[in-house]
Amino acid sequence: MKASVRVIGAGLAGVEACLQLAKRNVEVDLYEMKPGKMSPAHKLSTFAELVCSNSLRSDSGENAAGLLKTELRLLGSEVMKVADLTRIPSGSALAVDRESFSQALTKAIQSNPLIKIHHEEVTSIPEKGITIIATGPLTSDALSSELEKEFGALMYFYDAVAPIIAFDSIDTNIAYFKNRYDKGDGLYLNCPMSKEQYDLFYEELINAECVPLKEFEMRVFEGCMPIEEMAKRGPKTLTFGPLKPIGLQRPEHPKAYAVVQLRQDNHSGSLYNIVGFQTHLTFSEQKRIIRMIPGLAQAEIIRYGVMHRNTFINAPALLLPTYQLKNREEFFIAGQLSGVEGYVESIASGFVAGINAARLAQGDGPIVFPLETMIGAQAQYIANADSAYFQPMNINFGLVPPIIDERNKKNNKALVAARSIEKTEKFIEVYQLDQQRNN
Ligand SMILES: Cc1cc2nc3c(=O)[nH]c(=O)nc-3n(C[C@H](O)[C@H](O)[C@H](O)COP(=O)(O)OP(=O)(O)OC[C@H]3O[C@@H](n4cnc5c(N)ncnc54)[C@H](O)[C@@H]3O)c2cc1C
Repeated sequence: MKASVRVIGAGLAGVEACLQLAKRNVEVDLYEMKPGKMSPAHKLSTFAELVCSNSLRSDSGENAAGLLKTELRLLGSEVMKVADLTRIPSGSALAVDRESFSQALTKAIQSNPLIKIHHEEVTSIPEKGITIIATGPLTSDALSSELEKEFGALMYFYDAVAPIIAFDSIDTNIAYFKNRYDKGDGLYLNCPMSKEQYDLFYEELINAECVPLKEFEMRVFEGCMPIEEMAKRGPKTLTFGPLKPIGLQRPEHPKAYAVVQLRQDNHSGSLYNIVGFQTHLTFSEQKRIIRMIPGLAQAEIIRYGVMHRNTFINAPALLLPTYQLKNREEFFIAGQLSGVEGYVESIASGFVAGINAARLAQGDGPIVFPLETMIGAQAQYIANADSAYFQPMNINFGLVPPIIDERNKKNNKALVAARSIEKTEKFIEVYQLDQQRNN
């Protein structure tokens, strides 16, 4: 009898896990509640949906997110393969056409004879069988309360989504194409603001009406801080943050005091998202504030910014660095629900869980990825952090052992990156991760 694994949730982590399992000849039962039931942020009926930005962040090997992507490519990540195939110009970042990305991965799942898709919401925790739960930060209420019963109180923070604008509603006599420092091949559109325009915009932004949040205490993830909250920290916060003008000035034009950037959101270039503009302003206020930005006076907002609860478990109390439960080894939790933070981080966790679930199904022992690699450091961070203070964190160089440069006493990231690639290659060789299993 062929080994089989149940995967719950066809998001970034679940899809990567399914494709790794099938690659190793393991049968998969995939449960996804879309399109019958949609979370408050998911809009597409297809799998692996990017709910907010279409950017998978930096693609530079000396950036932690870029290095994680390099490792995933070396390891044979199927989601990264599709991300590379559906990429659109975005400077040094890896941005994708969100619909093509999601459609291509859905096709890969649907056409795989080893994967059986069940379009249904899972409302209880399966009692036995190898299972990966990857239902994400917006896990349905019924399953969340079951998880809560099983694992104790779940934890939360809040995430916000940035608005998307129709390109043909942007005034390109005012907004201009330019990448910061002219780096990369991207197509960023920039809306320049004078000091007077910025001051007016700032005053309106900090006083604009927000959607009230139900929960009394609101905790927001720093990396996804709503623009209006960030602005309330001081008038200059935005000009040193998402609206910083450096590297975006044009010769023979007045110097801009602040610049709002828009990033291409689809292949055809018909949609642009506003970079760093996650918001929970009311829709009418979003329209009013966005239309104050030079070049966006007639902006047609295709998708408004919204804010959502983001659920995760207390990973250090519950998980091993293989994403298995400490007290139930046939049970894995991957993706944002496991306490990782971000698209690429979720893909990486799905990769590790998928490989280990396949090994378990085939009678092999699980494998722990090396601490010197980004993929291994993330898994070890969530399993070993202090459970009393645990909070999700994007991948960063602080998670891997440093290599201190004697000349300036700083961590030498180039050496850390070279070591991570070497360790990844060795790991692939030792565990033959580049070979598909055919038994
Ligand atoms: C509003 C918001 C914005 C975000 N923006 C960004 C961003 O811009 N950049 C970034 O790097 N990260 C962002 N994140 C964080 C995170 O990286 C993404 O949420 C990412 O998609 C997580 O991947 P995942 O596979 O864990 O979950 P998801 O991609 O959300 O996939 C989970 C899947 O499980 C399904 N599901 C849920 N419950 C059930 C159930 N009971 N039964 C069956 N199926 C179920 C869902 O329909 C979904 O398809 C954001 C998160 C949120 C909530």
